[in-house]
Amino acid sequence: MDLTFTESETAFRDELRDWLATNPPGPEPEGEDAGYNWRRDWQRKLNEGGWAGVHWPTEYGGRGASLMETAIFFEEMGKAKAPLPANVLGLLLAGPTIMIWGTPEQKERYLQPILSADEIWCQGFSEPDAGSDLAALKTRAVKDGDEWVVTGQKVWTSGAQYSKWCMLVARTDQDAPKHKGLSYFLMDMEQPGVQVVPLKQITGDPEFNELFIEEARIPDENLLGGVGNGWKVALTTLMNERAGLGFFLQVRLRQLVDELYDEAASSGMLDDPRVADALADLHIRTEILRLTAYRGLSVIEQYGQPGPEGSLVKWLWSETNQILTQLAPGIVGPDALTAGTRWSYELLRARGNTIEGGTTEILKNIIAERVLGLPRAGRNAPGRRDAGPTAVRTTAGGDS
Ligand SMILES: Cc1cc2nc3c(=O)[nH]c(=O)nc-3n(C[C@H](O)[C@H](O)[C@H](O)COP(=O)(O)OP(=O)(O)OC[C@H]3O[C@@H](n4cnc5c(N)ncnc54)[C@H](O)[C@@H]3O)c2cc1C
Repeated sequence: MDLTFTESETAFRDELRDWLATNPPGPEPEGEDAGYNWRRDWQRKLNEGGWAGVHWPTEYGGRGASLMETAIFFEEMGKAKAPLPANVLGLLLAGPTIMIWGTPEQKERYLQPILSADEIWCQGFSEPDAGSDLAALKTRAVKDGDEWVVTGQKVWTSGAQYSKWCMLVARTDQDAPKHKGLSYFLMDMEQPGVQVVPLKQITGDPEFNELFIEEARIPDENLLGGVGNGWKVALTTLMNERAGLGFFLQVRLRQLVDELYDEAASSGMLDDPRVADALADLHIRTEILRLTAYRGLSVIEQYGQPGPEGSLVKWLWSETNQILTQLAPGIVGPDALTAGTRWSYELLRARGNTIEGGTTEILKNIIAERVLGLPRAGRNAPGRRDAGPTAVRTTAGGDS
């Protein structure tokens, strides 16, 4: 694909740069809640400037940016060291899913408060026994009049502690084949049947949570995409997950590589050929990642949706980020291994990168089967659960 910007793309980038110059995000405050409020205020500022839903169609309050402009947007946000907005899961996952599957009333009700960050969203997909194999989930919803009564457990629910709404996939038919018995709900988190229990990560942050759901009530009008259609609706959410974050992640990686290079240059460590070699390797990987992310755009342009090649971006990004954060202490010094420092946080947080939103093993399976066309692993292996062609979690994201 041609990576030269057109005149209008250059004008878009310049307008965004001007806006960022007068509206800088500022430094991140310390503490989980202060950090969250900062990201929420940032999203409100973006919304006031008309940048919150940059890739959303104008009819839903977005800017209607093209794919290339959206890529430019993420690149510029990364360069400005802007945080991900507080409602990232609403903007990238819930909003686009509602746009595709929602009734006019649902679009009217839910989309605007996603943009303004007045209502935060979380993703209630994973369960203790259903992560990669999402369709094995057991949370069940039973019809009671014009409501559904939901009981079960979700886990690793990022941002649930701040969320008003949850994208919830539950089993509505116990007898149907496992992909067909699912439905997708918009669940109000503010009710007695929903209990959010924080899980502390290795970084010390309770970024995600367990959700205990005991006879929670969901009105019929909050069903998205119809009864038994949950798998298809969930795939829409999952496809948007990786497509949206790919650009942001690779720009973030570029910043870290450059910062590490500067550290090495200023301390004279660049003269050590092992350090120079490791940094050159990181530079090349990051550049490949950037070009692969752009190549993914042509697939979207061609087929209207992200292809399985997006798995490559997530795989390469997570692995490179781990290599980089493990190299950092050797350059920055013991400070990078001291709790509470920026580099120690990056090192510890990177551990989850190869798990969240699709593990590396699952991504490799997808690439082997759907990009390289290799036979499916263990297709007829005894004891293998019938997973179906898209049964495993196929997409990824920084926050999920
Ligand atoms: C930081 C973070 C944030 C998250 N946020 C969210 C969120 O907001 N909402 C949400 O719903 N979930 C979230 N998750 C959960 C995440 O999506 C799951 O952890 C992930 O899908 C893997 O599922 P699992 O943990 O159950 O592992 P499992 O699926 O049990 O996998 C265990 C191991 O087996 C391997 N494996 C499994 N199946 C196969 C196979 N077919 N072939 C080869 N190897 C296989 C896996 O690669 C892994 O190494 C988050 C996770 C993290 C780390």
